[in-house]
Amino acid sequence: MPGKDSLKTYRDKRDFRKTGEPAGEKVVTSSGKPVFVIQKHDASRLHYDFRLEVDGVLKSWAVPKGPSTDPREKRLAVPTEDHPLEYANFEGVIPKDEYGGGTVLVWDAGTYRNLREEKEKDRAGMGRSLDEGKIEVWLEGKKLQGGYALIRTGKPGRGNKEQWLLIKKKDEKADAGRNPTSSEPESVITGRSIEEIASEEGE
Ligand code: MN
Repeated sequence: MPGKDSLKTYRDKRDFRKTGEPAGEKVVTSSGKPVFVIQKHDASRLHYDFRLEVDGVLKSWAVPKGPSTDPREKRLAVPTEDHPLEYANFEGVIPKDEYGGGTVLVWDAGTYRNLREEKEKDRAGMGRSLDEGKIEVWLEGKKLQGGYALIRTGKPGRGNKEQWLLIKKKDEKADAGRNPTSSEPESVITGRSIEEIASEEGE
């Protein structure tokens, strides 16, 4: 099964006696449409983790500035390790000395459709999109809707890491006047602010 051992890096980085994050013991597939989640992560450096369900895991990118609804904005997205599907519901505080230490807020969540599969009748699906470094999805979230592209750029960035760009596609959901990361900062599952999560669930 694809993705069978893809959570090893995730598990190796974490001590589950100390962090409340899910252990990700098994690869599970959600029923129905694949999910996406965007988690605001107030770690050593604030960023947004953009995650798409593919083959039973969450493929993940760290987006320092978060997503935009303006197609002219290209947002840097750096791939991170695959996360277990259960991580989509994780909101809380990772102890500060642990990997990714800081507060996590579920900023947006929903389902997505693979636009390349629909346009190109591409049966290889998201696996091919990942291999080719060209993802096009339609998000059905609470804050974000419409087409988004994730494109791998030619040149590796800092520390030879792959660099991708997250770009809003031009469609009826594009809106250069919206700035949802600042106007809608709260959690879509609990309505809390990042400060409330930190004070309620912190040490
Ligand atoms: Mn993160």
